[in-house]
Amino acid sequence: MGIEMSRILLRTALCVAAAGLLAVGMKSDYISERAKKLHFSSIVVDTHDDTTQRFLDGKFDIAQRHAEGSIDLPRMREGGLDAIFFSIWLPSKITGTDAVSRALAQIEAVRDQVRTHPKDLSLATTAAEVRASHQEGKIAALMGVEGGHMINSDLDVLRKFASLGVRYMTLTHSGNDEWADSSTDKPAHNGLTDFGKDVVREMNRLGVIVDISHVSDKTFYDALEISKAPMIASHSSCRAICDAPRNMTDQMMKDLAAKGGVVQINYHVGFLSQEFRNAEKANPEINKAIGQEVQKRCGDNEACQLLEGDRLTREYVEQGKLPRVDWTKIIEHIDYAVKVAGVDHVGLGSDFDGANMPYGMEDASKLPKITDALLRKGYSEGDVKKILGENTLRVMAEVGRVGQELSKRPRK
Ligand SMILES: [Zn+2]
Repeated sequence: MGIEMSRILLRTALCVAAAGLLAVGMKSDYISERAKKLHFSSIVVDTHDDTTQRFLDGKFDIAQRHAEGSIDLPRMREGGLDAIFFSIWLPSKITGTDAVSRALAQIEAVRDQVRTHPKDLSLATTAAEVRASHQEGKIAALMGVEGGHMINSDLDVLRKFASLGVRYMTLTHSGNDEWADSSTDKPAHNGLTDFGKDVVREMNRLGVIVDISHVSDKTFYDALEISKAPMIASHSSCRAICDAPRNMTDQMMKDLAAKGGVVQINYHVGFLSQEFRNAEKANPEINKAIGQEVQKRCGDNEACQLLEGDRLTREYVEQGKLPRVDWTKIIEHIDYAVKVAGVDHVGLGSDFDGANMPYGMEDASKLPKITDALLRKGYSEGDVKKILGENTLRVMAEVGRVGQELSKRPRK
């Protein structure tokens, strides 16, 4: 073979390789210029992140790029994540004054992150503050309490949380609390108790968004009837695609939307993929084994448990024992929710640092892929902006407005 011939062959081989890389790139991390421009000029809001658990470990530095977990400042910047609701979370089994003091410690931990990184983070409690923070080139830090058990059946505690900057509360976590039923527990209250309804009324007055992720369907409908302000499902997906009980039915999404609310799609593989959920159900020993191993490695350290749980789940996927779920499943849920509830009623609620992320959406740096995929599907730039954050900002503004309105009236 002459030298020319081998050069041609080599060139052909390189072209084929490049085309292959390009094809892979298109499928994975390729972002069009138009998507980049749109994404980085939009206000991107994520309504649910469990990174707070990591703050409790004094060694975690959010300003450093980490190999594990999903959230830190470098990766948020890279992914154009402009506003993040840090979740204040405790397992449902922790109750009473212990739950209150531990929730307060987490609120303090979030506020401390903002104090430590004043150039990058600013504490935001209103839509206007999120916009101002974006203008200043900072990331807005917000807080949501995930589970009504943390108020210890005391409206004064709820007021205290609100005064410290908490702007949503999920009525339950995975167990019932004293006044509301969860979707993953045996019904005990037939939805909301009378006190539970008072909690919703007080949240309305305080301008704290009622979050119905995790709650039972009956609790959802009770809250929807009582609430004078729009509600959110801060991290829930579509039950028609994956029948997890804490995902939303089509009817629930329509009813939430009819009152101005937003469902923020959760990226957890067990809420995105029926195949994954079926495999988990068919092999309960896998979850049991993961639970035991996590306990062994982490003890009661919740941050460690969340990260190790994700790592171990991935190992089972790599071994072919659990199905591999691709990030495009997130787009499927967003698109489905838009078709059912309307484009004004869908947003993003990743559950980063608290769940098992699909392949290709391992961390916040991957977020521009969502914008790229929605544009590719034919969504207008305005509609993409709504999903990325404007819908959530609209609810925040409206809940704030209703709160001010109600506060003018004498309390009963
Ligand atoms: Zn949750």
